[in-house]
Amino acid sequence: MDTHETELRQRVRDLCATWDYTPRCDSWAGGFEPEFSRELARRGLLARTWPKHLGGAEDSNVARLAITEELLRAGAPVSAHWVGERQIGPELIRLGTPELQEEFCPRLASAEYVFALGMSEPDAGSDLAAVRTTAVRDGDGWRLTGRKIWTSGAHRATHLYVLARTARTDDKHAGLTEFIVERTAPGVTVRPIIGMDGEHHFNEVTFDEVFTPDRWVIGQVGDGWSQVVGQLSFERGGPERFLSMYPLLKAVLDADGLLGAEDARRLRSLLARLMVLRTWARETALALDAGRSPIVEAATSKYLGNRFELDCIEFVRGLLPRCDADIHRMYSQAVLAGPKSGIRGGAAPVMLSIIAKGAK
Ligand SMILES: Cc1cc2nc3c(=O)[nH]c(=O)nc-3n(C[C@H](O)[C@H](O)[C@H](O)COP(=O)(O)OP(=O)(O)OC[C@H]3O[C@@H](n4cnc5c(N)ncnc54)[C@H](O)[C@@H]3O)c2cc1C
Repeated sequence: MDTHETELRQRVRDLCATWDYTPRCDSWAGGFEPEFSRELARRGLLARTWPKHLGGAEDSNVARLAITEELLRAGAPVSAHWVGERQIGPELIRLGTPELQEEFCPRLASAEYVFALGMSEPDAGSDLAAVRTTAVRDGDGWRLTGRKIWTSGAHRATHLYVLARTARTDDKHAGLTEFIVERTAPGVTVRPIIGMDGEHHFNEVTFDEVFTPDRWVIGQVGDGWSQVVGQLSFERGGPERFLSMYPLLKAVLDADGLLGAEDARRLRSLLARLMVLRTWARETALALDAGRSPIVEAATSKYLGNRFELDCIEFVRGLLPRCDADIHRMYSQAVLAGPKSGIRGGAAPVMLSIIAKGAK
């Protein structure tokens, strides 16, 4: 680790040490605090990899990884900026027109805009190319009609990313287009879906002839499939796929006299796996820095990260009779988040399929 990364890590630690929040598991999905995200932006800790004129610092993905690892390690409330900074900004920088970049990226870099992802539909999840939401040309824009489901955070978002069908062809991978839609545009309805944890995280979002301007098309009309596949590497390859339970593991590590000899052995084995996953995430960041779209690396990280997180929960389960209330609180969060992590961003068997195809 170089001094630049160490310095960035320290800046995150300094902020987390003075910010008033309760560390939680799965904070990148469940810890929503826009003012914390904006403070990170003010301190130059968001959008590090983006061009300076778009609010970034032209830093490396490896440097960004140092920041995201620290935030997750601290269980900090980061979900307000997570989707926008992780994948929408980078997607616009990769494919958007200069006008689109200038309209959105600085406001994403400052955490003013909050994005939700409108990909999945009732019959299009693992088979994302089956989306049926349509977009039809109307003057200088498009009219969108359809239904998205499991849209995390749509009720708090300012904007929605929407994958929609702009042409019908025999090849379902053709004729898809990526759009930005204002969440409060006439015709957008956001209905809550309450999770088994009692939290309002998911939504169903319907679009009834919703107008969005032509300039809010991302990339090329009809190229949505190849574009979204590239975007998913940003979504799947980051450390949130194996560090979302870390606050629980850290609480166990910090507890005095909790571990017997066999517990300590199992913990060492988990920590060894964690080091492998961190190395893998670094390789993925290096691939991004080299301009590659690391689709297979990201799927591997997501798959192995999910297995690791489930094993962490299993490990802590055996310690529970000797644990304090804080560990019990985080354990409950981890257990409820456990089933989600193998599904969101792509189900585990689908990750295996991508890895197997990549190994051919
Ligand atoms: C916590 C959470 C947050 C989410 N947030 C969002 C969001 O913000 N935006 C969004 O668009 N979506 C979101 N999703 C939806 C998520 O991306 C989909 O649930 C996921 O892609 C699976 O799609 P599905 O639910 O339609 O399951 P299905 O596609 O019906 O799959 C069901 C199961 O069948 C198996 N399966 C399916 N296809 C294959 C295959 N080809 N090979 C092998 N096995 C297969 C898998 O085991 C899979 O788990 C979220 C989901 C969760 C759990």
